[in-house]
Amino acid sequence: MNWGLIGASTIAGQYMVGAIRSYEENKIDWIVSGSAARALAFAQDHTIPQSTTELSDALSDARVSAVYISSTNEMHKGQALAAIAAGKHVLCEKPLAMTPADAAEMVRAARAAGVVFATNHHLRASGSHRTIRALIAGGKIGRVLSLRVFHAVELPEHLRGWRLDNPAAGGGVIPDITVHNADTVRFLLGEDPVFVVADMAATGLGKGVEDSAMSVWSMPSGAMVFSHESFTHPFAGSGLEVHGTEGSIFARGVMTQEPVGTVELVTSAGQVVVPYDTTRLYETVIANFNALVQGKPVLSATGTDGMKSLVIALGVREAARTGQRHTLNYGDAA
Ligand code: NDP
Repeated sequence: MNWGLIGASTIAGQYMVGAIRSYEENKIDWIVSGSAARALAFAQDHTIPQSTTELSDALSDARVSAVYISSTNEMHKGQALAAIAAGKHVLCEKPLAMTPADAAEMVRAARAAGVVFATNHHLRASGSHRTIRALIAGGKIGRVLSLRVFHAVELPEHLRGWRLDNPAAGGGVIPDITVHNADTVRFLLGEDPVFVVADMAATGLGKGVEDSAMSVWSMPSGAMVFSHESFTHPFAGSGLEVHGTEGSIFARGVMTQEPVGTVELVTSAGQVVVPYDTTRLYETVIANFNALVQGKPVLSATGTDGMKSLVIALGVREAARTGQRHTLNYGDAA
């Protein structure tokens, strides 16, 4: 499959170019950027044959059948709709768009065009998360009572740009990290929260956007979820815990881009460390995307999953803004 990259971004350079090329059937033909100099530099750094500032250059290339969009968040919708209209399959970064209605429009357009539209929620590509999901589904901890996800990290220096001061570009920890927590919880528990209560704050880095949030989500099964995300916590470490009537799962260091961390299962039989597949996460995302294009079912995040994670994240922000319990409306996401 021949790919065009839309966005000369950190994530593209750091992870996705390598992930796409880890499958020999994949080639990267284009890099599209808002800046000719950035496009050229990215093309040279990553040996991509063609660079442009015109999205239409890549989209009109008949050899290109898929695009990966990793521009800033406000750009995703227009770029995705253009790619879909050109008949390209789309792997789009989270958050899919600035609003759930925009994300729904993207999902509908892809459906009408008959192209694959997937969201880069990489955590469900992690062996640790898949193992936790299988433990829960296999009844190892009984009925799930609660899930707590810890995703308060320190935003690296080189990413301290639009995320911290530009709401128009989709800045703030809620569109950045709460969306990932939302997809993780949906993936692990197989259900969508109904309502949320929340608070948010700027605790040191955010200027005009929140850099920290805490929220509690109520699930249809009765399970309760606690979600904590931040850009300002250098030593907190990430992880999640799932507690059930017959056991608990403790996963430490697993809310990350690398196949690292530990998974422990505690039951009346004792405590065991559970092994898991350590394939690199973004390589699995690409393998799944290629499989989707071939019509094979996989566990990766669809456009609808990306839309639902956005509904939840923005619901958290609304609950925090109003101080009121917020009922989540998934609209026509199902
Ligand atoms: P970056 O800030 O690195 O890049 C975003 C855009 O900013 C680029 O597309 C580029 O625009 C522009 N840009 C890059 N460098 C410069 C510069 N020096 N001066 C001016 N503009 C610049 O963002 P990230 O890579 O961190 O994030 C991109 C997207 O990917 C976001 O939607 C984010 O949410 C998502 N993301 C997802 C992750 C995941 O695990 N799924 C992890 C990290 C990010 P242009 O293309 O026009 O050159």
